[in-house]
Amino acid sequence: MSKYWSPLTASLEPYVPGEQPKDKTYIKLNTNENPYPPSPNAIAAMKAVINEDLRLYPDPNSEMLIQALAKQNGLSPKQIFVGNGSDEILAFAFASFFDPSKPVLFPDITYSFYKVYAKFYGITPKLIPLDEQFLLDVNQFKGEHGGIIIPNPNAPTAIPMPLADVKVLLDNNPDQVVIIDEAYVDFGAESAIALVSSYPNLLVIQTLSKSRSLAGLRVGYAFGSEELIEGLNRTKNSFNSYTIDRVALAGAVAAIEDQAYFQATTEKVVATRERVVSKLQTLGFIITPSKANFVFISHPTIAAKQLFEQLREQGVLVRYFASPRIDRFLRVSIGTDEEMKVFLEVIERLIG
Ligand code: PMP
Repeated sequence: MSKYWSPLTASLEPYVPGEQPKDKTYIKLNTNENPYPPSPNAIAAMKAVINEDLRLYPDPNSEMLIQALAKQNGLSPKQIFVGNGSDEILAFAFASFFDPSKPVLFPDITYSFYKVYAKFYGITPKLIPLDEQFLLDVNQFKGEHGGIIIPNPNAPTAIPMPLADVKVLLDNNPDQVVIIDEAYVDFGAESAIALVSSYPNLLVIQTLSKSRSLAGLRVGYAFGSEELIEGLNRTKNSFNSYTIDRVALAGAVAAIEDQAYFQATTEKVVATRERVVSKLQTLGFIITPSKANFVFISHPTIAAKQLFEQLREQGVLVRYFASPRIDRFLRVSIGTDEEMKVFLEVIERLIG
């Protein structure tokens, strides 16, 4: 706390990031990064840009990237927004679409940043409870409110939402913006992009951080009606019109265009996930149905915190959340087959 801080800054809680430890080499299954490197084409494109002219500002409209995304998704460039990671797009979307005089609706167990953005913009969250199995009843998302945001699949439960449920949300709430955060959608869930041209209130947000192995590049994108995209652009240009730098732009375009590499790595992660799930089931774990690049697991007799600490001592990092209801669970990112083999050996020994 400082006397120089504004009341807004004084009200914000310090951020606790997922661990990026440097004390020794861990098998790092704690921040849902992709275990495979980015597309070689993306790396080559970025190297070429570094050798060119970084003296010049980048294109403030990120046109190359918007064109590539428009082509790939059969949309017009005016239906696409790009930002510095999907986190930045989420922040812009909260500012652009959620009326602070009304609550924003999101599930009671969900991506922790929604609460942070709501607070920053003075919006009150209204948490819609998930059931015992962490399932969501979309019919509870209605009434007097200023907007809705839901990740698909949800985080940290990894549970997907059927496209039919997204349609119900949109039909029930035509006067508010519905944001579907598809950070993990490529690992087996159904994307809502196909609905963008039919529903002017839908914003779908995706990222290069997970299925394209480019968390370090900080590029995300959103699909929506022209009016929503125009709203996001107005907010963005009031902060910083150059959100995507020249290197990131070149890498992002090449990554988007390398469909074959994306498909191959995504399929590998999904196949590994399915093998890990079967093995954990034979070890007695409860596992939520995952369509993400992570699994959410609970052992019936061993406390999650204890297991988290023991795994850490053995050189395997996973994520433990000290929050009610989910403190019985660990979130484990899917690594390479070799990494997951070690994880499974260690965990089998620990629950012995
Ligand atoms: N949405 C969800 C549900 C996430 O879990 C994350 C990252 N962990 C993000 C958005 C943000 O991803 P990025 O800013 O790297 O695109």
